[in-house]
Amino acid sequence: MTNHLFALVRENLPADPDKTFIETPEGRRYSYGDLLLRSGAYAAALVALGVKPGDRVAAQVEKSAEVVFLYLGAVRAGAVFLPLNTAYTPAEIGYFLGDAEPAVFVCDPARQEALAAVTQAVPRVLTLDSAGRGSASEAADRETEAFTDVERGPEDLAAILYTSGTTGRSKGAMLSHDNLASNARTLVEYWRFTADDVLIHALPVFHTHGLFVATNTVLASGGTMLFLPRLDSKLILSLMGRATAMMGVPTFYTRLLKEPGLDRAAAAGMRLFVSGSAPLLAETHREWQARTGHAILERYGMTETNMSTSNPYAGDRVAGTVGMPLPGVALRVVDPESGKALPQDEVGMIEVRGPNVFKGYWRMPEKTAAEFKADGFFITGDLGKVDSRGYVHIVGRGKDLIITGGFNVYPKEVETEIDALPGVVESAVIGLPHADFGEGVTAVVVPGEGAPDEAAILAHLEGRLAKFKCPKRVLFAPELPRNAMGKVQKNVLRETHAGLYG
Ligand code: ATP
Ligand code: MG
Repeated sequence: MTNHLFALVRENLPADPDKTFIETPEGRRYSYGDLLLRSGAYAAALVALGVKPGDRVAAQVEKSAEVVFLYLGAVRAGAVFLPLNTAYTPAEIGYFLGDAEPAVFVCDPARQEALAAVTQAVPRVLTLDSAGRGSASEAADRETEAFTDVERGPEDLAAILYTSGTTGRSKGAMLSHDNLASNARTLVEYWRFTADDVLIHALPVFHTHGLFVATNTVLASGGTMLFLPRLDSKLILSLMGRATAMMGVPTFYTRLLKEPGLDRAAAAGMRLFVSGSAPLLAETHREWQARTGHAILERYGMTETNMSTSNPYAGDRVAGTVGMPLPGVALRVVDPESGKALPQDEVGMIEVRGPNVFKGYWRMPEKTAAEFKADGFFITGDLGKVDSRGYVHIVGRGKDLIITGGFNVYPKEVETEIDALPGVVESAVIGLPHADFGEGVTAVVVPGEGAPDEAAILAHLEGRLAKFKCPKRVLFAPELPRNAMGKVQKNVLRETHAGLYG
């Protein structure tokens, strides 16, 4: 037996150990040889600190190449890597550390003091800064012998990743070696990644998109990453000439579209633009194609499932859809009440099954049991439909479904109508407590130049949507609340406007 996930990296190591794995804008370069040495050194350091197979290694650190080596070191040591959002406050970190009980916690040296009160129960606390320096990297510096990977099978845990917390408190998703390895293999093939690829990586590395989808795909193809600390559209534009692919959340694309230099020539050397983590507006898709000649490839996944569907590489990439189930993934749409499978084009709950689907929520056996069907399908919580060509359409989250006077309203249907109005930048449709209707349909609109007012929006919708779907009120806001992954936080909007209908 080998170390199942790291074996995938070993299998795809470029013949030349000097081949670049990660390059930073300041010109720091890390080769595949460095990757092997540094991840081995972190693994040895963790073992020397007493980390045993199955122990959690938690980290709240700024993005750097060293974080990737720490992640791979934890995997090679047989531990379970647990990255945490850099925006979490000490109180939040306290909750996660109490829940996960890691053997080691790595934090930014600048935050060590502020976190001291909540890290007391953690046996070892180490540091790592944005330049990749700190007591964790010093511990790795001291390890010079080649590391023998700790054996781990496909079903052993490689990571616990907390969900983004868009709908409530984050849950720890237990991801096995094969959950990650199988999905990386599938994506390499489906998106045609090779050792010649150079990926623009400006995503955070505490989330599934940046850490697993992007990084594991590159590792499993022996390619190169240009590692940006954060989204910087000017910098991304300047790097496109040297890159072949980019993965981003929809905000990446809307920001880049604001760059006058974005045109066909700028994107001529690129072969693939991928979007996910939040819905990409069909308009953004069309605008991007007009400006660059590239159709953005939208895909759909979750912390719990890795990637489940993708638009095709060679076929039609249809705006407003997330494509078909990936090879090996079974997807069905069911009636949330009866649990029966629904025919084509009918909206219901999306369920998925496959080697990509997680092992359950950490220390939440009841929640885990409630979210899995007897036949192994996982209830995603997302509502959607499959069209006649097999493309999956996400219409929103089950928790955002509005029930007004006994009728179901899918916010996306209303948002699409509002967004089509000239002068509307975007909108979010939510349900707010209403004495007569249970929930009152409410639109929050971000106005642009020449935006219509409330009366004009309502008049436009009247003839186009059934009366019960039409908002009772239209509110305006300069922007929608979003989290680090560009997801609209409808729970925040619902809280802010809770008293609107008295
Ligand atoms: P929480 O589960 O804690 O409320 P979250 O669901 O936002 O947070 P993630 O696992 O990061 O946490 O996000 C997965 C969700 O993101 C999916 O369930 C889906 O709602 C949304 N999503 C991902 N990709 C897409 C996409 N291409 N189009 C629409 N929604 C998407
Ligand atoms: Mg979720």
